[in-house]
Amino acid sequence: MLTDYIKVKTKGNSDIIDITLQVAGFVERQKIKDGIIFLSVIGSTAAITTMEYESGLIKDLKRAFEEIIPYKKDYAHNFTWADDNGHSHLRSSFIKTSFFVSVTASKLDLGTWQQIVLVDFDTQPRDRKIVVKGVI
Ligand code: ZN
Repeated sequence: MLTDYIKVKTKGNSDIIDITLQVAGFVERQKIKDGIIFLSVIGSTAAITTMEYESGLIKDLKRAFEEIIPYKKDYAHNFTWADDNGHSHLRSSFIKTSFFVSVTASKLDLGTWQQIVLVDFDTQPRDRKIVVKGVI
């Protein structure tokens, strides 16, 4: 098992960051021809998914998060901890903090218009650490 880390500075508030190049860099450095890449963001207010990374969809996805799990609501978490990120934790749980992608012929098995993204749902800028594991 090969291990590395991707470190990302985010702005929080559903900041969406394309990490595809960093993941592809790991595949290249580790000379993985055929295998599975596992990604896991450390923390309970961020998530990893894929999308077509373009400005329209970035807006659409942020709006969908707000419609499905809105910022302003009476979350027990906020009441219990005098916190404001109940929605951040819920969005992270629903999207999930980990992601698998396969590698064939030294390339990530992704579509041309499919990028791997980190979404930071917390309400403030954060330094995020993503564990990358390569299984060959
Ligand atoms: Zn919290």
